[in-house]
Amino acid sequence: MREQLRALVKLAEIDAKARSIDDRLKGLPVELEEQRGAVRRLEDLVSRQRASLAEAERLLGVQEQDVAARNENLSKAKSKGAKAKNAREAEAAERELESVRRSIKDGETHRDALKERLEKMRGGLGEPEKALEEAKAELAAAEAALEGKLAALREERTGVVSGREVFAKQIHKDHMRIYDRIVKGKPPAVCEAVSGVCSACRMSVAPQRYAQIQRGEILNCQSCQRFLYTKAIVED
Ligand SMILES: [Zn+2]
Repeated sequence: MREQLRALVKLAEIDAKARSIDDRLKGLPVELEEQRGAVRRLEDLVSRQRASLAEAERLLGVQEQDVAARNENLSKAKSKGAKAKNAREAEAAERELESVRRSIKDGETHRDALKERLEKMRGGLGEPEKALEEAKAELAAAEAALEGKLAALREERTGVVSGREVFAKQIHKDHMRIYDRIVKGKPPAVCEAVSGVCSACRMSVAPQRYAQIQRGEILNCQSCQRFLYTKAIVED
């Protein structure tokens, strides 16, 4: 009986260690989610800024064509002035020339403003692009490190559970069934009874039952169903 109880305690120890490794195996990849989110947000920001930049470049192109067209109007106005047959025509041509010159000036002012805005946008893109590259590099390093950590944990787990079968074989089938059921629901399936109290659910164990447990009999807590043991019986 006592050997079986010791085997149950050992089994529970092994399974508790394996569970804690499983938690880390599950938890570690989740920790990277925050970093992945940061990279996604930076990617969105950079792609929005690049789209705005492309639009600004397009607008500047349109404006440059417009200035070129206005310059063509200037040549036309000049040749009209040269062909003026009298003072009235010369005066009209001069007025037209003035108006075309003004329109060129307006067009150039607008074009220069667009250029300035474009330069600012190009400059403003540098910082988020740099931040994105850094975040990507950090994530890649973290992902590589994660692979190493996961591999080490899997190896550790294999080591931890390697002796499990030896103990499992010593335990009666009926007990094993109860053990497995509790582990599936609310582990651990085995816990210490201290001064007549189940350390898992804090309920008192009946004195007669506690005495049996102290002798090494395999009994469970009548409240939470976990197998109970006393330190003295499994240690000496
Ligand atoms: Zn209990």
